[in-house]
Amino acid sequence: MTLRIGCIADDFTGGTDVAAAFRRAGLRTALVFGVPDAGTRLPADCDAAVIALKSRSTPAKEAVEESLAAQRWLWSKGAAQVYFKYCSTFDSTPQGNIGPVSDALLDAAKAPITLACPASPPNGRTVYQGHLFVHDQLLSDSPLRHHPLNPMTDSSLPRLLAAQTEHQVGLITLPTVRGGVDAVREALLAHERHGVRHVIADAVTDDDLAILGAAALELPVVTGAAGLAEGLGRAYPTSGNATSEPQPTGGRAAVLAGSCSARTLEQIAQFYAAGLPSLHLDVLAAAAGRDVAAEALAWYDAQDPDQPVLIYASASPEELAAVQAQLGVAEAAAKVEELLGTLAVHFVTRGVRRLLVAGGETSGAVTTALDISTVLVGEEADPGVPWTYTGDLALMLKSGNFGAPDLFVRALKEAR
Ligand code: ADP
Repeated sequence: MTLRIGCIADDFTGGTDVAAAFRRAGLRTALVFGVPDAGTRLPADCDAAVIALKSRSTPAKEAVEESLAAQRWLWSKGAAQVYFKYCSTFDSTPQGNIGPVSDALLDAAKAPITLACPASPPNGRTVYQGHLFVHDQLLSDSPLRHHPLNPMTDSSLPRLLAAQTEHQVGLITLPTVRGGVDAVREALLAHERHGVRHVIADAVTDDDLAILGAAALELPVVTGAAGLAEGLGRAYPTSGNATSEPQPTGGRAAVLAGSCSARTLEQIAQFYAAGLPSLHLDVLAAAAGRDVAAEALAWYDAQDPDQPVLIYASASPEELAAVQAQLGVAEAAAKVEELLGTLAVHFVTRGVRRLLVAGGETSGAVTTALDISTVLVGEEADPGVPWTYTGDLALMLKSGNFGAPDLFVRALKEAR
């Protein structure tokens, strides 16, 4: 089996997002959690494999080592091209890790040049004159200016990237992109002749990204968000394998939510409003030693097996602040993740076959508890939120803010 393209994503739900983009482009895509070991097997006939790491905010050295190990594994599966996926807001610290990881991947591939574009037009992320926009605002004027971990106070991608690499950074502007695939290829060659290593490209629409993808097809390393990944994916001849994943049948359906994002809270409210059974976990009681997981399972056993159920730790900002003040942020999160992981294992043992998990960290906790390392990516319920399959389990892992407000009800209704 030979992969057409491999991908390294710098966070967990970013991996889901980019995997959905490859599949949308017609590629049969697997998603792998963490650096695979030599024995890790992919589902048959995959065109693309995405390795989801947690390397966005780790020390650069660690991020580089993990990314290189992932690149070697993807090469061993036949991938000639490796895509490095980061956030469409170029979420990084001033020192990295986007620059150091890109450089390491290029060095290992002995590649002189790469194309970089974080545009994601469906999410309002566009690049013009090298400046990153979030909807109608420059990145540096957007709410990302106040990001709790990595505040983005500059919108110039060439400047942001130049601070993270010793190599030259160049720019291909929109008129060249609109000039078509050959114009972009010529511009890349011209940059290469001048010793430029990282070429940022403007892109405002998906058509721009399709041109960039076609122009970048021969580059061993390409970097960006899910938008350019889809452009690249569309440039590959399709194998026709994308739609051949098995559809899960039967079994019970459940949601486990640990995200406290506004969108997840709306999705929980809609599930409740639809008259479906839901249970809120008492995190403080669990921390005080009460067997909240056993109580939740007793509640689950008493529900109508034909109805999907929801169990959530998710809390309003006020409730979250109160729990965190009492337990500490890390301890509260660890308790929640332990509870949801335990419930996931019991759910599967009790016949849940469609499981929706809300929250990036929460998804990590659940896949670890279920000991799942590889899934096949299926159809999307909402943009960037695909069903994935492993064995006879259908699993949906969603980033807190992803999906429409009715996602929980809609995605699970076939199971009712
Ligand atoms: P998102 O994708 O929205 O960021 P995550 O799952 O990544 O969601 O993060 C949510 C974090 O909040 C998790 O670490 C989770 O354990 C924690 N959490 C969820 N509910 C509670 C709660 N009631 N009290 C304290 N922490 C909570």
